[in-house]
Amino acid sequence: MRTETENAARVVVIGAGMAGARLAARVPGVTVIGEEAHAPYNRVLLAEVLAGRYEPDVIALPPAETRRGVRVVRIDRAERQVLCDDGSATGYERLVLATGSNPVLPPLRGLGHTLPDGVHPFRTLDDCLALRAAVRPGVRAVVIGGGLLGVSAARALAECGAQVVLAQQGEHLMERQLDAEAARMLRGHLEALGVEVHTECRVRGLRCTDGAAPAVRAVELADGYELEAEITVLACGVRPRAGLAQAAGLEVRRGVVVDDELRTSDPYIHAVGDCAEHDGTVYGLAGAALEQADVLAEVLAGRPARYGGTRALTRLTLRSPSSAPGVAGAPAALDLAAFGDSRPLPGDDVIRLADATRGAYRTVVVRGDRLAGGVLFGDLAAVGTLARTWQDDDPLPADMPLLHLLTNDGGF
Ligand SMILES: Cc1cc2nc3c(=O)[nH]c(=O)nc-3n(C[C@H](O)[C@H](O)[C@H](O)COP(=O)(O)OP(=O)(O)OC[C@H]3O[C@@H](n4cnc5c(N)ncnc54)[C@H](O)[C@@H]3O)c2cc1C
Repeated sequence: MRTETENAARVVVIGAGMAGARLAARVPGVTVIGEEAHAPYNRVLLAEVLAGRYEPDVIALPPAETRRGVRVVRIDRAERQVLCDDGSATGYERLVLATGSNPVLPPLRGLGHTLPDGVHPFRTLDDCLALRAAVRPGVRAVVIGGGLLGVSAARALAECGAQVVLAQQGEHLMERQLDAEAARMLRGHLEALGVEVHTECRVRGLRCTDGAAPAVRAVELADGYELEAEITVLACGVRPRAGLAQAAGLEVRRGVVVDDELRTSDPYIHAVGDCAEHDGTVYGLAGAALEQADVLAEVLAGRPARYGGTRALTRLTLRSPSSAPGVAGAPAALDLAAFGDSRPLPGDDVIRLADATRGAYRTVVVRGDRLAGGVLFGDLAAVGTLARTWQDDDPLPADMPLLHLLTNDGGF
Protein backbone atom coordinates (compact mmCIF):
# COMPACT_ATOMS: atom_id res chain seq x y z
CA MET A 1 0.00 0.00 0.00
CA ARG A 2 1.21 3.49 -0.91
CA THR A 3 1.48 5.63 2.21
CA GLU A 4 2.54 8.89 0.61
CA THR A 5 1.32 11.70 2.79
CA GLU A 6 0.70 14.89 0.91
CA ASN A 7 1.39 18.33 2.28
CA ALA A 8 -1.08 18.78 5.07
CA ALA A 9 -4.03 20.60 3.57
CA ARG A 10 -5.69 23.00 5.95
CA VAL A 11 -9.18 21.98 4.87
CA VAL A 12 -10.03 18.63 3.30
CA VAL A 13 -13.54 18.00 2.00
CA ILE A 14 -14.86 14.47 1.43
CA GLY A 15 -17.42 14.54 -1.37
CA ALA A 16 -17.51 16.67 -4.52
CA GLY A 17 -21.29 16.98 -4.70
CA MET A 18 -23.40 20.09 -4.33
CA ALA A 19 -22.29 21.01 -0.81
CA GLY A 20 -18.61 20.10 -1.37
CA ALA A 21 -18.41 22.08 -4.62
CA ARG A 22 -20.11 25.08 -3.02
CA LEU A 23 -17.66 25.03 -0.14
CA ALA A 24 -14.72 24.79 -2.56
CA ALA A 25 -16.05 27.83 -4.41
CA ARG A 26 -16.22 29.79 -1.14
CA VAL A 27 -13.03 28.65 0.61
CA PRO A 28 -9.79 29.08 -1.35
CA GLY A 29 -7.25 26.29 -1.29
CA VAL A 30 -9.38 23.42 0.01
CA THR A 31 -8.66 19.87 -1.12
CA VAL A 32 -11.81 18.15 -2.36
CA ILE A 33 -11.81 14.36 -2.70
CA GLY A 34 -14.72 12.93 -4.67
CA GLU A 35 -15.43 9.35 -5.66
CA GLU A 36 -17.40 10.24 -8.82
CA ALA A 37 -15.35 10.40 -12.00
CA HIS A 38 -17.23 13.45 -13.29
CA ALA A 39 -16.59 17.08 -12.47
CA PRO A 40 -19.07 18.30 -9.80
CA TYR A 41 -22.55 18.85 -11.22
CA ASN A 42 -26.00 20.06 -10.21
CA ARG A 43 -27.75 16.88 -9.09
CA VAL A 44 -31.16 18.57 -9.07
CA LEU A 45 -30.98 18.73 -12.89
CA LEU A 46 -30.33 15.01 -13.46
CA ALA A 47 -33.89 14.40 -14.69
CA GLU A 48 -33.27 16.95 -17.44
CA VAL A 49 -30.23 14.95 -18.55
CA LEU A 50 -32.27 11.75 -18.43
CA ALA A 51 -34.98 13.36 -20.55
CA GLY A 52 -32.29 14.32 -23.08
CA ARG A 53 -32.97 18.01 -22.61
CA TYR A 54 -29.48 18.80 -21.30
CA GLU A 55 -26.11 17.23 -21.97
CA PRO A 56 -24.04 16.47 -18.83
CA ASP A 57 -21.69 19.43 -19.40
CA VAL A 58 -24.64 21.84 -19.12
CA ILE A 59 -25.27 20.83 -15.50
CA ALA A 60 -21.59 21.10 -14.46
CA LEU A 61 -20.93 23.35 -11.46
CA PRO A 62 -18.17 25.99 -11.53
CA PRO A 63 -14.86 24.09 -11.70
CA ALA A 64 -13.19 23.38 -8.39
CA GLU A 65 -9.87 21.69 -7.78
CA THR A 66 -11.05 18.12 -7.14
CA ARG A 67 -9.35 14.76 -6.83
CA ARG A 68 -11.89 12.80 -8.84
CA GLY A 69 -12.55 9.08 -8.84
CA VAL A 70 -10.99 8.69 -5.38
CA ARG A 71 -12.95 7.36 -2.42
CA VAL A 72 -12.06 8.04 1.17
CA VAL A 73 -12.18 4.73 3.01
CA ARG A 74 -11.17 5.74 6.53
CA ILE A 75 -10.76 8.74 8.76
CA ASP A 76 -7.81 8.51 11.14
CA ARG A 77 -8.74 11.05 13.79
CA ALA A 78 -5.65 10.44 15.91
CA GLU A 79 -3.28 11.25 13.01
CA ARG A 80 -5.75 13.74 11.47
CA GLN A 81 -5.61 12.19 8.05
CA VAL A 82 -7.95 10.50 5.60
CA LEU A 83 -7.05 7.27 3.83
CA CYS A 84 -8.20 6.73 0.26
CA ASP A 85 -8.89 3.72 -1.94
CA ASP A 86 -5.90 4.63 -4.15
CA GLY A 87 -3.61 4.02 -1.16
CA SER A 88 -2.92 7.71 -0.48
CA ALA A 89 -3.23 9.49 2.83
CA THR A 90 -4.07 13.18 3.13
CA GLY A 91 -3.57 15.17 6.30
CA TYR A 92 -6.08 17.75 7.49
CA GLU A 93 -6.39 20.48 10.02
CA ARG A 94 -10.12 20.72 9.42
CA LEU A 95 -12.08 17.92 7.76
CA VAL A 96 -15.49 18.39 6.16
CA LEU A 97 -17.83 15.49 5.48
CA ALA A 98 -19.99 16.28 2.44
CA THR A 99 -20.75 12.69 1.52
CA GLY A 100 -24.42 13.17 0.61
CA SER A 101 -26.82 10.26 0.73
CA ASN A 102 -27.34 6.84 -0.78
CA PRO A 103 -30.52 5.59 -2.43
CA VAL A 104 -32.52 3.29 -0.17
CA LEU A 105 -32.67 -0.21 -1.59
CA PRO A 106 -36.08 -1.52 -0.53
CA PRO A 107 -36.35 -5.04 0.93
CA LEU A 108 -37.73 -6.67 -2.22
CA ARG A 109 -37.70 -10.33 -3.06
CA GLY A 110 -35.17 -10.79 -5.87
CA LEU A 111 -33.12 -7.71 -4.94
CA GLY A 112 -29.74 -8.46 -3.38
CA HIS A 113 -26.66 -6.29 -2.97
CA THR A 114 -25.92 -6.61 -6.68
CA LEU A 115 -28.68 -5.07 -8.74
CA PRO A 116 -30.08 -7.29 -11.51
CA ASP A 117 -29.65 -5.95 -15.05
CA GLY A 118 -32.26 -3.33 -15.85
CA VAL A 119 -32.63 -2.19 -12.22
CA HIS A 120 -31.40 1.36 -11.72
CA PRO A 121 -31.02 3.69 -8.77
CA PHE A 122 -31.36 7.39 -9.62
CA ARG A 123 -28.75 9.31 -7.68
CA THR A 124 -25.66 9.98 -9.77
CA LEU A 125 -24.81 11.15 -13.26
CA ASP A 126 -23.60 7.62 -14.00
CA ASP A 127 -27.00 6.22 -12.88
CA CYS A 128 -28.63 8.72 -15.15
CA LEU A 129 -26.42 7.96 -18.17
CA ALA A 130 -26.95 4.22 -17.69
CA LEU A 131 -30.71 4.77 -17.63
CA ARG A 132 -30.56 7.01 -20.66
CA ALA A 133 -28.63 4.33 -22.57
CA ALA A 134 -31.25 1.72 -21.67
CA VAL A 135 -34.34 3.72 -22.62
CA ARG A 136 -35.82 3.49 -26.09
CA PRO A 137 -39.30 4.25 -27.34
CA GLY A 138 -41.78 1.64 -26.20
CA VAL A 139 -39.54 0.10 -23.52
CA ARG A 140 -41.53 -0.98 -20.43
CA ALA A 141 -40.36 0.87 -17.33
CA VAL A 142 -41.61 0.65 -13.76
CA VAL A 143 -40.66 3.38 -11.30
CA ILE A 144 -40.93 2.29 -7.67
CA GLY A 145 -41.65 5.29 -5.45
CA GLY A 146 -43.84 8.33 -6.06
CA GLY A 147 -41.89 11.02 -4.24
CA LEU A 148 -40.04 13.90 -5.91
CA LEU A 149 -37.41 11.52 -7.35
CA GLY A 150 -39.89 8.98 -8.68
CA VAL A 151 -42.09 11.63 -10.24
CA SER A 152 -39.05 13.29 -11.90
CA ALA A 153 -37.81 9.94 -13.21
CA ALA A 154 -41.24 8.86 -14.49
CA ARG A 155 -41.75 12.13 -16.32
CA ALA A 156 -38.28 12.00 -17.91
CA LEU A 157 -38.69 8.36 -18.99
CA ALA A 158 -42.10 9.14 -20.53
CA GLU A 159 -40.49 12.01 -22.43
CA CYS A 160 -38.04 9.49 -23.86
CA GLY A 161 -40.98 7.44 -25.13
CA ALA A 162 -40.92 4.68 -22.50
CA GLN A 163 -44.17 3.05 -21.37
CA VAL A 164 -44.00 4.01 -17.72
CA VAL A 165 -45.84 2.67 -14.68
CA LEU A 166 -45.30 4.56 -11.43
CA ALA A 167 -45.95 2.49 -8.30
CA GLN A 168 -46.48 4.57 -5.17
CA GLN A 169 -47.04 2.91 -1.83
CA GLY A 170 -48.62 5.97 -0.20
CA GLU A 171 -52.07 7.42 -0.71
CA HIS A 172 -50.92 10.07 -3.14
CA LEU A 173 -47.87 11.33 -5.01
CA MET A 174 -45.18 13.45 -3.33
CA GLU A 175 -46.70 13.03 0.11
CA ARG A 176 -43.92 15.01 1.79
CA GLN A 177 -44.70 18.12 -0.19
CA LEU A 178 -48.24 18.00 -1.58
CA ASP A 179 -51.77 17.89 -0.25
CA ALA A 180 -54.27 15.49 -1.82
CA GLU A 181 -55.68 18.01 -4.31
CA ALA A 182 -52.31 19.11 -5.66
CA ALA A 183 -51.25 15.46 -5.86
CA ARG A 184 -54.41 14.69 -7.86
CA MET A 185 -53.50 17.41 -10.36
CA LEU A 186 -49.93 16.15 -10.57
CA ARG A 187 -51.25 12.67 -11.23
CA GLY A 188 -53.47 14.01 -14.01
CA HIS A 189 -50.49 15.70 -15.57
CA LEU A 190 -48.36 12.57 -15.46
CA GLU A 191 -51.21 10.53 -16.91
CA ALA A 192 -51.51 13.02 -19.76
CA LEU A 193 -47.83 12.33 -20.42
CA GLY A 194 -48.70 8.64 -20.74
CA VAL A 195 -47.54 7.54 -17.27
CA GLU A 196 -49.76 4.92 -15.59
CA VAL A 197 -49.92 5.87 -11.91
CA HIS A 198 -50.80 3.38 -9.15
CA THR A 199 -51.15 4.69 -5.62
CA GLU A 200 -51.52 2.58 -2.44
CA CYS A 201 -49.60 0.03 -4.43
CA ARG A 202 -46.99 -1.99 -2.57
CA VAL A 203 -44.26 -3.69 -4.53
CA ARG A 204 -43.28 -7.10 -3.11
CA GLY A 205 -40.49 -8.27 -5.35
CA LEU A 206 -38.74 -8.40 -8.67
CA ARG A 207 -39.00 -11.28 -11.11
CA CYS A 208 -35.73 -11.83 -12.91
CA THR A 209 -34.40 -14.12 -15.60
CA ASP A 210 -32.39 -17.16 -14.46
CA GLY A 211 -28.67 -17.46 -15.06
CA ALA A 212 -25.40 -15.93 -13.98
CA ALA A 213 -26.45 -12.37 -14.93
CA PRO A 214 -30.13 -12.10 -14.02
CA ALA A 215 -32.14 -9.32 -15.65
CA VAL A 216 -35.42 -7.90 -14.40
CA ARG A 217 -38.49 -8.96 -16.35
CA ALA A 218 -41.36 -7.98 -14.03
CA VAL A 219 -42.22 -6.17 -10.83
CA GLU A 220 -44.44 -8.15 -8.49
CA LEU A 221 -47.07 -6.29 -6.46
CA ALA A 222 -48.31 -7.27 -2.99
CA ASP A 223 -51.57 -8.62 -4.46
CA GLY A 224 -49.58 -10.94 -6.74
CA TYR A 225 -50.16 -8.90 -9.90
CA GLU A 226 -47.07 -8.57 -12.10
CA LEU A 227 -46.09 -5.47 -14.05
CA GLU A 228 -43.94 -6.31 -17.04
CA ALA A 229 -40.65 -4.39 -16.77
CA GLU A 230 -37.50 -4.20 -18.86
CA ILE A 231 -36.32 -1.25 -16.77
CA THR A 232 -37.00 -0.66 -13.08
CA VAL A 233 -36.07 2.55 -11.32
CA LEU A 234 -35.68 2.49 -7.55
CA ALA A 235 -36.82 5.83 -6.14
CA CYS A 236 -37.60 4.77 -2.59
CA GLY A 237 -35.92 7.58 -0.72
CA VAL A 238 -32.38 8.25 0.44
CA ARG A 239 -30.32 7.61 3.54
CA PRO A 240 -27.46 9.86 4.75
CA ARG A 241 -24.00 8.44 3.95
CA ALA A 242 -22.68 8.39 7.47
CA GLY A 243 -20.66 5.14 7.45
CA LEU A 244 -17.24 6.84 7.46
CA ALA A 245 -18.27 9.06 10.36
CA GLN A 246 -19.71 6.13 12.29
CA ALA A 247 -16.58 4.03 11.79
CA ALA A 248 -14.51 6.97 13.03
CA GLY A 249 -16.56 7.12 16.24
CA LEU A 250 -18.36 10.38 15.52
CA GLU A 251 -21.88 10.85 16.86
CA VAL A 252 -24.34 9.62 14.25
CA ARG A 253 -28.09 9.35 14.61
CA ARG A 254 -29.94 9.44 11.28
CA GLY A 255 -27.12 11.60 9.91
CA VAL A 256 -23.82 12.91 11.28
CA VAL A 257 -24.84 15.10 14.21
CA VAL A 258 -23.69 18.74 13.88
CA ASP A 259 -24.13 21.88 15.95
CA ASP A 260 -24.93 25.40 14.72
CA GLU A 261 -21.36 25.75 13.40
CA LEU A 262 -21.81 22.49 11.45
CA ARG A 263 -19.29 20.88 13.80
CA THR A 264 -19.49 17.17 14.57
CA SER A 265 -18.68 15.59 17.93
CA ASP A 266 -14.99 16.01 16.91
CA PRO A 267 -14.15 19.75 16.93
CA TYR A 268 -11.81 19.30 13.92
CA ILE A 269 -14.49 17.69 11.75
CA HIS A 270 -17.55 19.34 10.21
CA ALA A 271 -20.41 17.91 8.15
CA VAL A 272 -22.71 19.61 5.63
CA GLY A 273 -25.47 18.63 3.22
CA ASP A 274 -27.46 15.42 3.01
CA CYS A 275 -25.13 13.53 5.38
CA ALA A 276 -25.57 16.02 8.23
CA GLU A 277 -28.21 16.04 10.94
CA HIS A 278 -28.81 19.44 12.49
CA ASP A 279 -31.21 19.92 15.37
CA GLY A 280 -32.80 16.54 14.66
CA THR A 281 -33.33 17.27 10.95
CA VAL A 282 -31.75 15.66 7.90
CA TYR A 283 -32.90 17.87 5.05
CA GLY A 284 -32.03 15.92 1.90
CA LEU A 285 -32.56 19.08 -0.12
CA ALA A 286 -30.19 21.10 -2.27
CA GLY A 287 -31.18 24.44 -0.69
CA ALA A 288 -30.17 23.23 2.77
CA ALA A 289 -26.88 21.72 1.49
CA LEU A 290 -25.88 25.03 -0.13
CA GLU A 291 -26.92 27.12 2.86
CA GLN A 292 -24.94 24.89 5.22
CA ALA A 293 -21.88 25.13 2.96
CA ASP A 294 -22.18 28.93 2.98
CA VAL A 295 -22.35 29.06 6.77
CA LEU A 296 -19.42 26.67 7.11
CA ALA A 297 -17.33 28.78 4.71
CA GLU A 298 -17.77 31.68 7.15
CA VAL A 299 -16.96 29.50 10.16
CA LEU A 300 -13.78 28.17 8.49
CA ALA A 301 -12.75 31.73 7.64
CA GLY A 302 -13.00 32.55 11.36
CA ARG A 303 -16.01 34.82 10.94
CA PRO A 304 -18.98 34.46 13.27
CA ALA A 305 -21.77 32.46 11.61
CA ARG A 306 -24.43 30.10 12.82
CA TYR A 307 -26.75 27.76 10.99
CA GLY A 308 -30.31 27.99 12.22
CA GLY A 309 -32.05 25.55 9.86
CA THR A 310 -33.29 25.93 6.30
CA ARG A 311 -36.75 26.77 5.08
CA ALA A 312 -36.25 25.28 1.64
CA LEU A 313 -38.64 25.54 -1.28
CA THR A 314 -39.19 22.51 -3.53
CA ARG A 315 -39.78 23.31 -7.18
CA LEU A 316 -40.47 21.00 -10.07
CA THR A 317 -41.20 21.72 -13.71
CA LEU A 318 -42.95 19.08 -15.75
CA ARG A 319 -42.67 19.71 -19.46
CA SER A 320 -44.48 17.88 -22.23
CA PRO A 321 -42.59 18.09 -25.51
CA SER A 322 -45.05 17.50 -28.33
CA SER A 323 -42.39 15.33 -29.96
CA ALA A 324 -42.58 12.69 -27.22
CA PRO A 325 -44.82 9.75 -28.06
CA GLY A 326 -47.97 9.40 -26.00
CA VAL A 327 -48.19 13.01 -24.87
CA ALA A 328 -50.79 14.42 -27.26
CA GLY A 329 -53.13 16.75 -25.40
CA ALA A 330 -50.83 17.20 -22.43
CA PRO A 331 -50.37 20.79 -21.22
CA ALA A 332 -47.09 22.36 -22.43
CA ALA A 333 -45.42 22.71 -19.04
CA LEU A 334 -46.52 22.56 -15.48
CA ASP A 335 -44.76 24.24 -12.59
CA LEU A 336 -45.07 23.13 -9.04
CA ALA A 337 -43.73 24.74 -5.90
CA ALA A 338 -44.18 23.53 -2.34
CA PHE A 339 -42.88 24.89 0.93
CA GLY A 340 -43.23 24.10 4.61
CA ASP A 341 -46.06 21.99 5.94
CA SER A 342 -49.10 21.96 3.67
CA ARG A 343 -51.00 19.52 5.92
CA PRO A 344 -53.10 21.63 8.30
CA LEU A 345 -53.28 21.01 12.04
CA PRO A 346 -56.47 21.61 14.03
CA GLY A 347 -56.95 25.36 14.39
CA ASP A 348 -55.01 26.30 11.23
CA ASP A 349 -56.57 28.44 8.52
CA VAL A 350 -56.46 26.96 5.03
CA ILE A 351 -56.94 29.15 1.99
CA ARG A 352 -57.43 27.50 -1.41
CA LEU A 353 -57.94 28.70 -4.96
CA ALA A 354 -58.47 26.20 -7.74
CA ASP A 355 -59.00 26.80 -11.44
CA ALA A 356 -59.64 23.46 -13.12
CA THR A 357 -59.78 24.85 -16.66
CA ARG A 358 -56.32 26.39 -16.36
CA GLY A 359 -55.02 23.50 -14.26
CA ALA A 360 -54.01 25.94 -11.54
CA TYR A 361 -54.24 25.36 -7.80
CA ARG A 362 -52.88 27.29 -4.86
CA THR A 363 -53.21 26.64 -1.19
CA VAL A 364 -51.59 28.03 1.91
CA VAL A 365 -51.81 26.98 5.53
CA VAL A 366 -51.73 29.79 8.12
CA ARG A 367 -50.83 28.92 11.70
CA GLY A 368 -51.43 31.79 14.13
CA ASP A 369 -49.99 34.85 12.40
CA ARG A 370 -47.45 32.89 10.28
CA LEU A 371 -47.45 30.96 7.05
CA ALA A 372 -46.95 27.26 7.86
CA GLY A 373 -46.72 26.01 4.29
CA GLY A 374 -48.30 25.97 0.89
CA VAL A 375 -48.48 24.49 -2.57
CA LEU A 376 -48.72 26.31 -5.86
CA PHE A 377 -49.46 24.32 -8.93
CA GLY A 378 -49.66 25.43 -12.54
CA ASP A 379 -49.30 29.15 -11.86
CA LEU A 380 -46.41 30.31 -9.72
CA ALA A 381 -46.96 34.05 -10.01
CA ALA A 382 -47.36 34.39 -6.24
CA VAL A 383 -44.53 32.08 -5.27
CA GLY A 384 -41.83 34.73 -4.77
CA THR A 385 -43.80 36.74 -2.20
CA LEU A 386 -45.12 33.67 -0.42
CA ALA A 387 -41.77 31.91 -0.27
CA ARG A 388 -40.05 35.04 1.04
CA THR A 389 -42.71 35.51 3.74
CA TRP A 390 -42.32 31.89 4.75
CA GLN A 391 -38.52 31.82 4.59
CA ASP A 392 -38.23 34.99 6.68
CA ASP A 393 -40.92 33.67 9.05
CA ASP A 394 -42.47 37.15 9.03
CA PRO A 395 -45.80 37.70 10.80
CA LEU A 396 -48.63 38.24 8.33
CA PRO A 397 -50.13 41.76 8.38
CA ALA A 398 -53.11 41.62 10.76
CA ASP A 399 -55.31 43.78 8.51
CA MET A 400 -54.77 41.78 5.29
CA PRO A 401 -57.56 39.40 4.20
CA LEU A 402 -55.90 35.97 3.96
CA LEU A 403 -57.18 35.51 0.41
CA HIS A 404 -54.75 38.25 -0.66
CA LEU A 405 -51.93 35.82 0.05
CA LEU A 406 -52.97 33.98 -3.06
CA THR A 407 -54.19 36.82 -5.22
CA ASN A 408 -51.59 39.54 -4.74
CA ASP A 409 -50.62 39.09 -8.37
CA GLY A 410 -54.19 39.77 -9.49
CA GLY A 411 -55.63 36.32 -8.81
CA PHE A 412 -56.80 33.87 -11.39
C1 LIG B 1 -32.51 13.10 -9.36
C2 LIG B 1 -32.50 14.02 -8.18
C3 LIG B 1 -33.33 15.14 -8.16
C4 LIG B 1 -33.31 15.99 -7.08
N1 LIG B 1 -34.13 17.09 -7.10
C5 LIG B 1 -34.12 17.95 -6.08
C6 LIG B 1 -34.91 19.12 -6.11
O1 LIG B 1 -35.69 19.34 -7.04
N2 LIG B 1 -34.82 19.99 -5.06
C7 LIG B 1 -33.96 19.76 -4.02
O2 LIG B 1 -33.88 20.60 -3.11
N3 LIG B 1 -33.18 18.66 -3.96
C8 LIG B 1 -33.25 17.75 -4.96
N4 LIG B 1 -32.45 16.63 -4.91
C9 LIG B 1 -31.59 16.41 -3.71
C10 LIG B 1 -30.27 17.16 -3.86
O3 LIG B 1 -29.64 16.77 -5.05
C11 LIG B 1 -29.39 16.87 -2.65
O4 LIG B 1 -30.02 17.38 -1.50
C12 LIG B 1 -28.01 17.51 -2.78
O5 LIG B 1 -27.32 16.99 -3.89
C13 LIG B 1 -27.19 17.30 -1.50
O6 LIG B 1 -25.87 17.73 -1.70
P1 LIG B 1 -24.65 16.99 -0.96
O7 LIG B 1 -23.42 17.67 -1.42
O8 LIG B 1 -24.93 16.86 0.47
O9 LIG B 1 -24.69 15.51 -1.53
P2 LIG B 1 -24.39 15.00 -3.00
O10 LIG B 1 -24.72 16.02 -4.02
O11 LIG B 1 -25.02 13.66 -3.11
O12 LIG B 1 -22.81 14.82 -3.03
C14 LIG B 1 -22.13 13.89 -2.23
C15 LIG B 1 -20.89 13.45 -2.97
O13 LIG B 1 -20.00 12.81 -2.07
C16 LIG B 1 -19.41 11.71 -2.71
N5 LIG B 1 -18.91 10.79 -1.71
C17 LIG B 1 -19.63 10.11 -0.77
N6 LIG B 1 -18.83 9.38 0.00
C18 LIG B 1 -17.56 9.58 -0.45
C19 LIG B 1 -16.29 9.08 -0.05
N7 LIG B 1 -16.16 8.23 0.96
N8 LIG B 1 -15.19 9.50 -0.72
C20 LIG B 1 -15.31 10.38 -1.76
N9 LIG B 1 -16.49 10.88 -2.18
C21 LIG B 1 -17.61 10.49 -1.52
C22 LIG B 1 -20.55 11.14 -3.55
O14 LIG B 1 -20.07 10.30 -4.57
C23 LIG B 1 -21.18 12.43 -4.07
O15 LIG B 1 -20.58 12.84 -5.27
C24 LIG B 1 -32.47 15.74 -5.97
C25 LIG B 1 -31.65 14.60 -5.98
C26 LIG B 1 -31.67 13.74 -7.06
C27 LIG B 1 -30.78 12.52 -7.05
